[in-house]
Amino acid sequence: MLFSGVAQHFSEVEGTVSRLAMSGIVAKLFSGATPSEARQLVYIMEGNVAPSHEGLDVGIGEKFAIRAIARTSGYTERQVASGCKKSGDLGETAEALLEKKAQLSLSSSENTLSKVFSSFLKIARMSGSGSQEAKISVLSELLNGATPLEAKYLVRFCLGRLRLGVGDPSIIDALSMVRHSDKTDKIMLERAFNLCSDLGEVAEVYLSGSDLSRFSAQPGKPIRPALAERLPNAREIIEKLCGEEAKGEPGREKAGRKCAVQSAPSAPMAPALRRQCAVEAKYDGLRMQVHLKDGAVGIYSRKLEKMTHMFPEIVKAAAALPAASAIFEGEALAYNSSEKRYYSFQQTMQRKRKHGVERMAEEFPLRLFAFDIMYLDGKDLTMAPYLERRRALEGLVKGSRTIVPSDLIYTGSPKKLDEYFQRALSEGLEGIIAKDLAQPYVAGARKFAWIKLKKSYGAMADSVDAIIVGYYLGKGAREEFKFGGVLAAVPNEETGKLETIAKIGGGFTEDEMASLAEALEKIKTKEKPKALVSKLEPDFWVEPKIVITIAADEITLSPMHTCGMVGETGYALRFPRMVAMRDDKSPSDATTVREVISMFEMQRRKNAQ
Ligand code: AMP
Repeated sequence: MLFSGVAQHFSEVEGTVSRLAMSGIVAKLFSGATPSEARQLVYIMEGNVAPSHEGLDVGIGEKFAIRAIARTSGYTERQVASGCKKSGDLGETAEALLEKKAQLSLSSSENTLSKVFSSFLKIARMSGSGSQEAKISVLSELLNGATPLEAKYLVRFCLGRLRLGVGDPSIIDALSMVRHSDKTDKIMLERAFNLCSDLGEVAEVYLSGSDLSRFSAQPGKPIRPALAERLPNAREIIEKLCGEEAKGEPGREKAGRKCAVQSAPSAPMAPALRRQCAVEAKYDGLRMQVHLKDGAVGIYSRKLEKMTHMFPEIVKAAAALPAASAIFEGEALAYNSSEKRYYSFQQTMQRKRKHGVERMAEEFPLRLFAFDIMYLDGKDLTMAPYLERRRALEGLVKGSRTIVPSDLIYTGSPKKLDEYFQRALSEGLEGIIAKDLAQPYVAGARKFAWIKLKKSYGAMADSVDAIIVGYYLGKGAREEFKFGGVLAAVPNEETGKLETIAKIGGGFTEDEMASLAEALEKIKTKEKPKALVSKLEPDFWVEPKIVITIAADEITLSPMHTCGMVGETGYALRFPRMVAMRDDKSPSDATTVREVISMFEMQRRKNAQ
């Protein structure tokens, strides 16, 4: 497959706003590709050369890309840079300059997709002294054989700015269009992706005609995390998880020590427990997925980035567990064992930012509260019901002091659930997560298998995780920080758009203002993000990459915001303030428009009580 054809399709995608039409164009591209080319196309559309958890980064700086363009086009670096200043897009500048050159001479050779991909891979693997020069040479060679349109996308890709607006769900739709498959195929595609977090691999296997049942959880491949739904109170949670019969106060809960871990009851599930659920403490720390593979330990963050080196004390404890292979999950918190208290989320997060990991591990050792297991010694447990997984988990971590099972009770009583919730809050925890005893591990999705109940923020049942899409310059005392607040948006899953929900000026510490201003400056864009629907115009737009947690007094209806807009009115946060910067969350983890609407309904029910 020639890369010029790929560039043509990318250009068509760019001119399209409808998600369905976009998937149609991508499907056309896939249908002309071999299975291994399809894999390459997926990674490229994702802006990378491998699944993101492999941590490979093509990362050519603008300065070096300018040098490569100058070499190929015959213009000076200064001319290229000034062209870029005018257009605001080095990709477009490369296209325009190569256009002029093409009128003078013919290109030397044609780039194939495979050549482009292997060159990108080569660039990503280069490191050390002299690597920048080598990267420039590889890029120049590609540009030499490129059409002007190809050059635009090659340059954008190398700068990490391809931004076609084709997300993973559109790629999955496109794949299922190629084989004219039914709904079951799409579900299988999604499941396979959720289990291995590698859409390139899924595409290759699927387009080679294999059925996707060979996909099971595999140590070394991170599983996309299960997510929790929310309900406003204990009664609704029990009704949802334990059914009608659990209404009222049956007093069926198993006697448990005060806030101490109850063991999972032994199989088969006792009849009384069918009307119970597990209620676990909700820890406010760092979510971790721990993989054990032939004795080696790998730790993935919630965003599925490999962060093994940051947590030596967890690695040591995991390596000592009695299993050859396993995948389990938990929340890690810095814990002060002499004072028997947890440090704050902010303190726990220091580990991600600061150097001196070993010292931090001594000063603020982490404890991992394990809450699920998806794989153990050759057996995929993702389809096993909660109770079976819990038993396996408790058996695995028994005896470890650093990796302990999350605290829980089993109950079918709203009153007991509420008491446990209140106790969790009084111990400084965030709330509870109630879990359906019969459900499998629902990878990558928010289903009612897990339901969270958190300390309330005013009338709101939860805080909102929103994506920063723009920012304002500071006035008065804030001038020195070059930061006066942010515009935040949430994703609409149905349309693939981002819709604004709040303009936030408060809740930032001076340190946060300084670090946000620095981070936002780096991702400033000239244009409004393509997927954003906004009535407000901040001083600067930014790439929608950074997630923040926002608390507010309530959700209101507002003519200024576009979240879930009907007519001229959208949902908005009243008196919003920042609670935390969430570099552990990615935009795909943000609260969705659908969730905001359901929180608004919960708030309405609460106010009517
Ligand atoms: P939220 O981030 O508010 O949507 O809440 C879900 C998060 O709570 C999960 O992603 C975990 O990081 C965290 N969490 C803390 N304790 C537990 C637990 N016992 N079970 C599941 N998730 C938990």
